[in-house]
Amino acid sequence: MMAEAPRGEPSRWPTARLLAGLLEWYDQQRRDLPWRAPPGKPADAYVALVSEFMLQQTTAATVRRRFPTFMARFPTLMALADAPLEDVLHAWQGLGYYRRARSLHACAIAIRDEHDGRLPRVEDALLALPGIGAYTARALQAIVHDRPVVPVDGNVERVLARLFRIETPLPRARGAIVARADALASSDRPGDIAQALMELGATVCRPRSPLCVLCPWMEPCEARATGVAESLPRKAPPAEKPVRRGLAFLLRRGDGAILFRRRPDKGLLAGLHELPGSPWQDGPFDLDRALEYAPAKVEWRLLHGTVRHVFSHFVLEVTLAEARTDQPPLGLWCHPDELGRLALPTVTVKLLRHVGIEPGPGRVAPPTIAGSPARRRTAEA
Ligand code: SF4
Repeated sequence: MMAEAPRGEPSRWPTARLLAGLLEWYDQQRRDLPWRAPPGKPADAYVALVSEFMLQQTTAATVRRRFPTFMARFPTLMALADAPLEDVLHAWQGLGYYRRARSLHACAIAIRDEHDGRLPRVEDALLALPGIGAYTARALQAIVHDRPVVPVDGNVERVLARLFRIETPLPRARGAIVARADALASSDRPGDIAQALMELGATVCRPRSPLCVLCPWMEPCEARATGVAESLPRKAPPAEKPVRRGLAFLLRRGDGAILFRRRPDKGLLAGLHELPGSPWQDGPFDLDRALEYAPAKVEWRLLHGTVRHVFSHFVLEVTLAEARTDQPPLGLWCHPDELGRLALPTVTVKLLRHVGIEPGPGRVAPPTIAGSPARRRTAEA
């Protein structure tokens, strides 16, 4: 029986044994994910690039559902780089955080134009590409180029904080965790080490109720041995998010079409389609002021309840006002059964669901820009 390691000391297993146990477990338990190369096969750079962008803020379960459709639409880096941004945003629906879609598109263009269509090998060149930060650069280096680096995402942070019982709260603990990750880097199967660590965090060393009995590191794990696994990694209490409020206008035309608008090309939810609305304001909601932004002078009816959506830096609460018009203003009109042609952010989907409209999947086509039903029929013909 091994002696207990002092708190904060390195794991009781040497690095080589830790890696051997991890890789043996990975070879037996790895999930068959559509972006993962078969065992023994090299990873495809474009497949890895798309999947890393998608996985940045979306769970593997959701990416697993969306990834094949996206790849069928943009099967190569050139296809993605040559596509209009609007098509890429549309294909990104369901994944959220649309800034990633814009960055991925810009990244593909930069690789096409500045690197002859090949993913750069050097870290500085990777970091210079749109949307690629330290984590993604490391992940691509390990998975695509077999470089001995260990990327540290939330899953890896959790596993290593527990294995080495690092009790300093995040984000202060990050330096110590990255140092532990660097110590695990190896030139033997670096891509598999990176993916095995992520896999272990995602499937076994879960945030709640870690499945320690299934873990290849059960024996050397400091947190398990001392019964503190579930409490690690510790986190500094999050700052409370400010609440912003706004009014959205659901204006229906005689044929049932709804008025939308396209958001500006820069900033939050850039280029996506939404219901017209007032600016989102901090503090108490001023209804009279918000109504000044109505897209038509008609009788507006306030709907019961608010729609709440949490962005990374604030919480949004939107009230809906509804009206019909016989004199539709010029604008971007779309019939409820054709909403699949728009790139709708999640908050707009929530607003539509609030009134019983379910935006279904659709085809890519420009929405009508006319105010009258007659023009709409012309556009469809
Ligand atoms: Fe996580 Fe448990 Fe494995 Fe430790 S033994 S790394 S807490 S799953």
